Amino acid sequence: MKKFSWLLAVILVSMLVLAACGGGDEESENDDEWVENVTILTGGEAGVYYPLGLAMGEIMSENVDDVNATGITTGASVVNINDISDGEAEFALVQNDIAYYAQEGTEMFEEEGAREGFSGVFTMYPETIQIVTLADSGIETVEDLEGMRVAVGDVGSGTEANANQILGVHDLTYDDLNEEYMDFGDASSNLQDGNIDAAFVTSGTPTGSIQELSASADVKLVSISDDMIEALEEEYPYYTRQDISNDDYENFDSEASTVAVQAMFIVRDDMPEDQVYELVASIFDNLDDMENAHDRGSDLTLDSAQDGMSIDLHPGAERYYDEN
Ligand code: GLU
Repeated sequence: MKKFSWLLAVILVSMLVLAACGGGDEESENDDEWVENVTILTGGEAGVYYPLGLAMGEIMSENVDDVNATGITTGASVVNINDISDGEAEFALVQNDIAYYAQEGTEMFEEEGAREGFSGVFTMYPETIQIVTLADSGIETVEDLEGMRVAVGDVGSGTEANANQILGVHDLTYDDLNEEYMDFGDASSNLQDGNIDAAFVTSGTPTGSIQELSASADVKLVSISDDMIEALEEEYPYYTRQDISNDDYENFDSEASTVAVQAMFIVRDDMPEDQVYELVASIFDNLDDMENAHDRGSDLTLDSAQDGMSIDLHPGAERYYDEN
């Protein structure tokens, strides 16, 4: 009899322990939804995604409990979308044209098909397609790039996609020149050292890499002609005409006409709605920090946050805009 009640007690205690563990599991399942370590994919260090991505990480970490957010360098737009779609990070800065192609499975995503699992948070600022060369390179037009050594952006960047499309409307392909894949920082040092003749840079102005180069070398920006700008606007939905003025850069005559796309912030679809709401709110509550990180940070406003948005909004972002 004693043995029997001992056994009963053991069974009872084990059941209690199991129940407690079960309860614990449920709780941690809920906790699991909230993502404590948030990774923000940016671009190369000499671009604009990087300082703004870092700033957003700091804002989120400082203002939202149980969030530790960090911006990291990457090859930019195309790899960022692929990584978010594969669930490898939570947020990313990308170009609105590239997000659209990913969703539709066109252009650079045609072979692998449409990507899923990402949605929009906000659009931020124009990313200007800048074709940089040394003042004495003799390159005056896009056609002059024929036969030249041209940096077309990093592997997996939106810049590279833009270079390809812009050459395309001018009836040029990579077969007509020597394309070199590198980030903006390397492009600037290679321009300065005479290893390349020109570089495509799709980024907010002033772009750090161009600013730095112009401090020690005589540089200029190559314009795209009016009819080629029109051809680009007609063929691709997200290009808009953009004129670069002498207000954009300090050290050189930077007047040029070209096209721009929009920088946008995207998020993994399966991030909890409440968490995305809180993180978005933290950014809009601290716009000063965005402006301090880079001039283009001041372009982010509640009013323009959905301009040029090329994909569906995340429900957390949508609720934030509905309520604010
Ligand atoms: N828009 C660029 C790209 O995706 C990156 C711009 C930046 O880093 O500022 O290639």
